[in-house]
Amino acid sequence: MLPRREVFPHVIEMNYQARQRLGCSVYLVHDAGEWLLIDIGFEDTAEEIIEMIRQMDFALANCKYLVATHADVDHIQGFKRAKELLPNAMMVGHPECKRLLAEGDRVFTYAEIAAQNISIDLPIIHIEQTITEGDSLKLGGLSLDVWNTPGHTGSQLAFRLGDLLFSGDNIFRDGCVGNIDAHHGSDLPAFIQSLERIRDCDVKWLLPSHGPIFRKDRVQLQKTIDRLTEYQHMADFGTCAVDWPLLDQWEEELARGFDPDKA
Ligand SMILES: [Zn+2]
Repeated sequence: MLPRREVFPHVIEMNYQARQRLGCSVYLVHDAGEWLLIDIGFEDTAEEIIEMIRQMDFALANCKYLVATHADVDHIQGFKRAKELLPNAMMVGHPECKRLLAEGDRVFTYAEIAAQNISIDLPIIHIEQTITEGDSLKLGGLSLDVWNTPGHTGSQLAFRLGDLLFSGDNIFRDGCVGNIDAHHGSDLPAFIQSLERIRDCDVKWLLPSHGPIFRKDRVQLQKTIDRLTEYQHMADFGTCAVDWPLLDQWEEELARGFDPDKA
């Protein structure tokens, strides 16, 4: 039997449990014999993760939910295998996640990035129950509140459990955020709203989908919000920017004509 290395009461994170990096964060939440998994990562680590869970003496038959934070392949590819090993578990995710996975959308899920020769297997994964803002996942005596936090992508969810927020790809410990990419459904104004909601809420800890767990810090969140607010008006993220003020300035200058002495 493996000792359970809880990061917080009722919460185990499988990379911390293994004391090595397996892939994305995989959170196991448990109470009164029931448990759920938030994300699973790639298929090649799914069996190892579930074997560790078995060795920690969790009954595989008592896995109640398999939860997709969003549809990205590095978070969900292993769910097909996980569902075979955990047939009693209900596969849940956002309606947009359900659609992308049912259609096997290879672009929105990052299974296919042609320009970088990335082409990886995306199994068809059936989201059996959709969850969205206002829903909650009940587990023993616990209740996880479902938050819609679009921005990185339209299907991004976060989950609140008391002082903890399973915060998905919204923000990481270094202040970085999940990829901003129009081909992935990213939306800067929505992203800023999601980050403002996290900034203003009273959770103490953020449990992200990549990298270390960290304390929620208003100042850091504001710095990230300010950066994304700038991006909205910069050509750097042109496909996601809402405007580019330099073009308005140029138009005024075109009307006046170019004068090297005034440039
Ligand atoms: Zn991610």
